[in-house]
Amino acid sequence: MTDVIDGNAVAADIREGVTECVDVLEDSGVRPGLATVLMSDDPASETYVSMKQRDCEEVGIEGIHVDVDNDAPAQELYDTIESLNDDDAVHGVLVQKPFVDQVDERRVLRTIDPVKDVDAFHPENVGRLVAGDPLFKPCTPHGIQRLLAAADVDPEGKEAVVVGRSDIVGKPMANMLFGRDEGGNATTTVCHSRTADLAEHTRRADIVVAAAGVPEFITGDMLSEGAVVVDVGINRVERNGESTLVGDVAFESAKEKASAITPVPGGVGPMTRAMLLYNTVKAAGLEADVDVPLP
Ligand code: NAD
Repeated sequence: MTDVIDGNAVAADIREGVTECVDVLEDSGVRPGLATVLMSDDPASETYVSMKQRDCEEVGIEGIHVDVDNDAPAQELYDTIESLNDDDAVHGVLVQKPFVDQVDERRVLRTIDPVKDVDAFHPENVGRLVAGDPLFKPCTPHGIQRLLAAADVDPEGKEAVVVGRSDIVGKPMANMLFGRDEGGNATTTVCHSRTADLAEHTRRADIVVAAAGVPEFITGDMLSEGAVVVDVGINRVERNGESTLVGDVAFESAKEKASAITPVPGGVGPMTRAMLLYNTVKAAGLEADVDVPLP
């Protein structure tokens, strides 16, 4: 029987733990706050931001949202971030991607105060993760690490293959999988768009993390018997005249081979959202010097 890993259930446990952290902070007179910044009129980005605000409300984090006009000069965005860095009511700052053309993405990431960088994309936080001393772990790979633990999958000594080398998923995921901390110690291969023979790598993997953004391209015949498959992809496709969400993994054929697999939706997505709340209460605890019982 293949274990279909329930990301909604694991994320609900994390959120419950975050709520306890909020209570502990409030007992010390601290109300944790997360600021989201949007400089785009992309409807998907608007949806992502409002979901994050709703998540905050649910666990008792103060959600603060700032819209920056998408025609404004980039400096307005950098100034907005600076003022949130200086705002004591704000413990986490998140600037929603993608960025409009006039904005320098690297400058945005560098402008966020590293201690409020709950996405963990600031070069200092990237460096700390690579050095094995993370302040914050990036939400998607951290969520995946928690999903694997919840499914009793210990990567230690296993062959892990990460498909995708992006800064937000592939690279930090690989670092965490081969790192020395709990949930790491796997022998890790990173595949990408220039990999010559992807299936040759995925077929010898005990754990496959698919994060390429290509709909359903990891099929059962590319997997070893008993593999653990984590599907990060979120792809909108037309099926029978209707728009639907699919992952990077062809779920039905992969399920035939896998011992455990994450579904889309309901797998990695809810974990990414939960780990953002986790990082926010962690940031608030660090800033206020309050020991929070992180879940
Ligand atoms: P990205 O476009 O930045 O990177 C994709 C990576 O995949 C690149 O490194 C590229 O080299 C590699 N790639 C592309 N085509 C490939 C192929 N045919 N074979 C092998 N490698 C290939 O994407 P991203 O931001 O890392 O996101 C990846 C997917 O995950 C997207 O579908 C995105 O929507 C989704 N995503 C989901 C969550 C979540 O919470 N579930 C979070 C972030 C991203």
